[in-house]
Amino acid sequence: MKKFMTLKIFKEFQTKAQEFRSESLSDRLSRLDRLQTWIKKNTHLIEKSLDQDFKKPAFETQTTEILTVLSELKYYKTYLAKWAKDKKVPTPISLAGHTSRIRFEPKGVVLIISPWNYPFQLAVIPLISALAAGNSVILKPSELTVSTSELLKRMCKDCFAEDEVLVELGDKLKTNELLNYNFNHVFFTGSAAVGRIIAVKCAEKLIPYTLELGGKSPAIIDQTADIKDAVKKIHWTKFSNRGQTCVAPDVLIVHKKIKDEFMFEYKKLENSLSGEKSSQIINEKNLIRLQNMCKDQVNLGSVHTHLIESKFKPNELALNSESLLNVNLKNKLPLIHTEEIFGPLALVYEFENFEDIEIIYNLNPDPLALYIFSENREQINKVLKHFPSGGVGINTVVVHLANLNLPFGGIGQSGHGQYHGHFGFLEFSHQRAVLEQNLLSSSIEVLLPPYTNVKKRFIQILIKVTT
Ligand code: NAD
Repeated sequence: MKKFMTLKIFKEFQTKAQEFRSESLSDRLSRLDRLQTWIKKNTHLIEKSLDQDFKKPAFETQTTEILTVLSELKYYKTYLAKWAKDKKVPTPISLAGHTSRIRFEPKGVVLIISPWNYPFQLAVIPLISALAAGNSVILKPSELTVSTSELLKRMCKDCFAEDEVLVELGDKLKTNELLNYNFNHVFFTGSAAVGRIIAVKCAEKLIPYTLELGGKSPAIIDQTADIKDAVKKIHWTKFSNRGQTCVAPDVLIVHKKIKDEFMFEYKKLENSLSGEKSSQIINEKNLIRLQNMCKDQVNLGSVHTHLIESKFKPNELALNSESLLNVNLKNKLPLIHTEEIFGPLALVYEFENFEDIEIIYNLNPDPLALYIFSENREQINKVLKHFPSGGVGINTVVVHLANLNLPFGGIGQSGHGQYHGHFGFLEFSHQRAVLEQNLLSSSIEVLLPPYTNVKKRFIQILIKVTT
């Protein structure tokens, strides 16, 4: 493996970060411009890399990797000037004689660690936020998507100076090596298991961090739902990127009355799309993991007849089926209830009443996303009140993350911190409180000793008036 990043390089980044603190907004915008121009000019290279890494079709690359990143860039270019300005905030009467504002300052040198499943988007969107907030960046992309990670390195070399953005290639040894340095923020996207390791490493040095993790997102489909619409949308999340999407639903909680129809429609749709190409499973290890998940269910006799094993083609790393695994809580396989699927399969549980949903939700509380398909407003509100999640889709799936006015991030087990649009800018900024005395004297005088009777009376009045 390549020699580790040296302390000398890290120190150069710290020096650069110091320079970044006093640069103008146009310097930051010009970095975003360079990135935008490079991406627009090299879309064919991005498509090629993703094809080489896991046969991702160009259409999926254009929608989920290129469009997402270019939309983020455009949004940042439109709003950055507004976000980066000091924000005046009111000052309470008890602090009369002062003005108050928030300064949005860069955090310094930040480390971004990204996963393989959307290898371009999940590296570049945090990079945009970090640069827009005025930080210098070291990026460690996934070792599993070699072509895209190398392309990211080339892109950053073409767009930025070596002490502005550096892409470090490697596996977990590289991540661990990087975590020895005193970064000012670590932004991690990946599994909960690795997230825990990152959190411990950061805690040792008191480094703030963001964790964008995965999990088992549920979709509740009640008896009032438009079944065909729900099927179309849920199937898409299992087809696109071969279901290897952090917000794709893993657990389908379907009302008993409509379950058979739901599964029938799902299979019908799957058959009608069987000629359509999607990505591959990332590697053999994951393919075997998914196959075993199906086999366990077959052994239990609980797999819906629609699951056709012959569709697995190990040599091509293709799991050409968006199958539903018909499970119930009596299955003595705790793993299937709790392990993230991260593939084209989904578990189908049936429910009769709200308590059933509660039991299934509580197997994996605090998911990254939660979906509800229903025409019943009361039921929708009840679900929102009872079951917390990072984000929610009501009669829709996954696309909530495409609205840059909404924050994207998890809660509890599914992560910590948020990004996208303004939320990303804030995540990579230090929001510095500034209170400035603007008159010759201010109310602070009252707090200073000696504590005279006049001051004591004044405080009594203040408590009455302001509280
Ligand atoms: P991963 O956790 O295995 O790897 C993520 C990154 O961490 C990679 O760069 C990898 O090199 C590094 N890494 C791996 N093991 C490590 C270790 N022991 N110590 C230090 N670093 C290590 O995740 P993955 O397999 O690349 O991605 C899939 C996971 O990411 C899924 O759980 C998915 O749900 C999650 N994910 C979350 C989001 C989100 O936005 N919340 C988005 C995409 C993926």
